[in-house]
Amino acid sequence: MNLKYIFSFILFLLISCNISTISDGVYCVEVERYNPRTLKESSYTLTAEVKNEKLVRLYFPNGGYIDYDDFNPSNISSGTTSFSDFRGVQFKVKIIKKGTDCFDAFPELKRCTAITKSGERCKNKTRNKSGRCYLHDKNK
Ligand SMILES: [Zn+2]
Repeated sequence: MNLKYIFSFILFLLISCNISTISDGVYCVEVERYNPRTLKESSYTLTAEVKNEKLVRLYFPNGGYIDYDDFNPSNISSGTTSFSDFRGVQFKVKIIKKGTDCFDAFPELKRCTAITKSGERCKNKTRNKSGRCYLHDKNK
């Protein structure tokens, strides 16, 4: 066995690992919906249920959902999928991340952007929209 074969084998392993990264569970997804009858196009951030790398259910913010009664489970192993439901409405779905906290009620903590008197960047963390901590946020 020469090195070239070993190398291709490792490469093969890496690629096959990458293919099955979509595990079962609930994901945040970006959805583009197009109704050809009304010519209405809309986009949403929704949660979706994935099973066996297939999109099986889409949850809407009003509490409703669509599932196998409305469309055939669609393969989403690449992270995106598009399909039409049984009424002809077209969907494009793109996975954003795993989990249900899609609506950014609590944005991630970011380091304060202010420069302190000593000339260094402030080390406080903040969720303020201004990007500045409670000490440096001038709107307060
Ligand atoms: Zn600060």
